[in-house]
Amino acid sequence: MVEVRSVRKSFGSLEVLKGVDLAVRTGEVAVVLGPSGSGKSTLLRTINHLEKVDSGSVSVDGALVGYKQSGNKLYELREREILKQRTEIGFVFQNFNLFPHLTVLDNITEAPVSALGRPKKGAVESARALLARVGLADKADAYPRQLSGGQQQRVAIARALALEPKLLLFDEPTSALDPELVGEVLDVIKDLAHQGTTMIVVTHEIGFAREVADTVVFMDGGRIVEQGPPGEVLDHPRHERTKSFLSKVL
Ligand code: ATP
Ligand code: MG
Repeated sequence: MVEVRSVRKSFGSLEVLKGVDLAVRTGEVAVVLGPSGSGKSTLLRTINHLEKVDSGSVSVDGALVGYKQSGNKLYELREREILKQRTEIGFVFQNFNLFPHLTVLDNITEAPVSALGRPKKGAVESARALLARVGLADKADAYPRQLSGGQQQRVAIARALALEPKLLLFDEPTSALDPELVGEVLDVIKDLAHQGTTMIVVTHEIGFAREVADTVVFMDGGRIVEQGPPGEVLDHPRHERTKSFLSKVL
């Protein structure tokens, strides 16, 4: 279970998150929609402590993200503990962010071996299994530049899965892709959803949201304006802002 409670975040004088509350149960998928600048990426980044919250808290399976509590005081975790925690929260970016100088296989085994100290041999076996799962068994020795965008994004997903995260965050995973490559990436994410992976997905793919989301969240101006099952938020939005946004993206 992921719990975001009253999270506020400003950059200088610009308040980007104005008190966000969101709960995603284990095995469920939340899809986050909203206009550019509404705070979607910032929200995802606070969930794995790439951005520090100004107030409020995030917890994953009961453990505070980025902090520990001692008595009634909060202490920020040390860098090493934060990195350890981040291995439990996978993050898939819009632009794949693969290591260009490493093969596909090495991209996937790098973190399990160096961050978690897993033996190389086991990490390679798991990586090969993950590559098969995302349909890229034959690309283990390729370099990222030799792959299409859709293939690179599927490697990025395999890389995130290699750490066996409790939670996967996706920030517009298909928006940098040519339209004909979007489907292959969404299919992988759909498979994960059907296998009970807990995920928060920022995307404008409404069909995907309708099919996969347990909860659709609409953000605007640093706030969650509306959230609920896709049948409610997408088909019967209650707020004017949600209606006008959906009329533009549908
Ligand atoms: P998009 O759909 O364009 O990706 P978004 O909903 O993900 O938008 P954010 O990236 O969260 O929006 O940005 C929200 C606001 O915060 C924007 O006004 C942005 O310019 C600002 N912002 C984000 N990151 C920073 C930063 N590191 N420093 C200053 N301002 C930032
Ligand atoms: Mg964004």
